[in-house]
Amino acid sequence: MFSSAKVKLAVTAIGRRYIAVRRLNEVRVWSRGFACSEHGDESCRDDNHVYDIVISGGGMVGTAMACSLGLDPNLQGKKILLLEAGHKKVMDKVPEMYSTRVSSISPGSATLLSSLGAWDHIVNLRCKPYQKMQVWDACSDALITFDKENLQDEMAYIVENDVIVAALTKQLQTLSDHVEVKYKTKVVKYTWPSSHQVADSIPWVQVTLANGQTLQTKLLIGADGPNSMVRREAGIPTVKWNYDQSAVVAVLHLSEPTENNVAWQRFLPTGPIAMLPLSDTVSSLVWSTSHQHAEQLLELDEESFVDAINSAFWSNENHSDLVETAGSLFRTALSVLMPSGASTRQLPPSVAGIGPKSRVMFPLGMGHAAEYIRHRVALIGDAAHRVHPLAGQGANLGFGDVDYLTQVLSQAAFSGKDLGAMQHLLEYETERQRHNLPMMAAIDLMKRLYSTNSAPVVLLRTFGLQATNALPPLKDQIIAYASK
Ligand SMILES: Cc1cc2nc3c(=O)[nH]c(=O)nc-3n(C[C@H](O)[C@H](O)[C@H](O)COP(=O)(O)OP(=O)(O)OC[C@H]3O[C@@H](n4cnc5c(N)ncnc54)[C@H](O)[C@@H]3O)c2cc1C
Repeated sequence: MFSSAKVKLAVTAIGRRYIAVRRLNEVRVWSRGFACSEHGDESCRDDNHVYDIVISGGGMVGTAMACSLGLDPNLQGKKILLLEAGHKKVMDKVPEMYSTRVSSISPGSATLLSSLGAWDHIVNLRCKPYQKMQVWDACSDALITFDKENLQDEMAYIVENDVIVAALTKQLQTLSDHVEVKYKTKVVKYTWPSSHQVADSIPWVQVTLANGQTLQTKLLIGADGPNSMVRREAGIPTVKWNYDQSAVVAVLHLSEPTENNVAWQRFLPTGPIAMLPLSDTVSSLVWSTSHQHAEQLLELDEESFVDAINSAFWSNENHSDLVETAGSLFRTALSVLMPSGASTRQLPPSVAGIGPKSRVMFPLGMGHAAEYIRHRVALIGDAAHRVHPLAGQGANLGFGDVDYLTQVLSQAAFSGKDLGAMQHLLEYETERQRHNLPMMAAIDLMKRLYSTNSAPVVLLRTFGLQATNALPPLKDQIIAYASK
């Protein structure tokens, strides 16, 4: 299913790129049903409610976008507005209790957050680096370990989502001269520019707020999450499906303090269970499993829930003699051929308890917008792509969008171009789809490959995992790709 969808999307993207290139020299760009003047109608600037850029949605990705645009020297003087339905998230000091919603932040995203001036706030608030990741198969114990050659280097960081948003919000406050932010402000309607220019038609996107106010913008950035209203109302086709899984998340208290610098993930036939470090004594659980099992896990008393977690990480109930024998033969053969490639299996820490009221479940799905842009519209973050959390990549892909879209808009502003014009937005779409689609395909494939305990598939993935583990250059490539 995914591969045919992927081919379709790739063909669509190539086709649209070709059309855009043909039209580059036209003064007017007529595309996807919307028409406009390349340099806009300056008379509209009289209106106080005309913005150069409106970002709809101030989650992690939308808030990062607002900071990134606000800091760009070429975009100084542009009117930028961030709209967020929820309340403002400020955090002078971190709450004693850890939040259940955390993200593994790649070094690439950390660099972006650093360039936005938010990383120091994050580190001052709360952030746990880890140097190693161990992933293993519950059906065979075949494992792969990823670590940085130099253990001083961080592989990634576990950060609470609220800490990321709060740090970006603090930074946004320093940019209030040119980035306006409206919290508790929900958009209820978007009106697109008319497809042909009528004398009194509005050439901009019109945004209607829940309080009845209307605004106009030359470029609307949809950062409004997986159920994006911007995407839906713009009529952008989306490939999406729900997985047969929900993720149960919780704050875990470890039995004893440890260095806790390893991220653990075990693939059970029902889905992956991950333990991500938050401090010497606290980790975060992301347990993807069937909806029914997830509901049962939420119903369990604390002691039974803790037992279920420990057993999911330690039990051998899914092992089979055939797979174990074949796997151990293959491992022996590999260790003869590549003695340097072997890595010893470490055991995860055991869990003693959970944070009060920290158990929550989220249904999981995958979604990809066939187009990230329309005339005067660009989608970023989960509004454009939603992935299974097994690779911890969703927010990281969104931060990559922020980085590239800022570059493209900065260049357009420097050249005096209309920010909402298709030609540079297409550059953003092409570049990000080129990065995001292979990552999404790999994540979806992993999800499918590990959702079975049928012996031939288990054997295949056991050999695959062991062979990959024995090839450090291949592992380095994987780390480099996931670190962006
Ligand atoms: C269990 C789980 C674990 C995960 N772990 C990781 C991980 O380790 N690493 C990682 O990189 N990613 C991870 N992710 C993915 C990550 O959480 C998402 O990719 C990320 O939160 C998407 O951010 P966003 O800002 O695009 O969207 P959202 O967080 O959905 O934000 C959208 C915002 O838009 C606002 N909004 C929506 N509609 C409107 C409207 N009409 N008007 C105004 N505002 C509106 C909402 O209030 C919200 O604040 C995980 C996801 C899950 C479910």
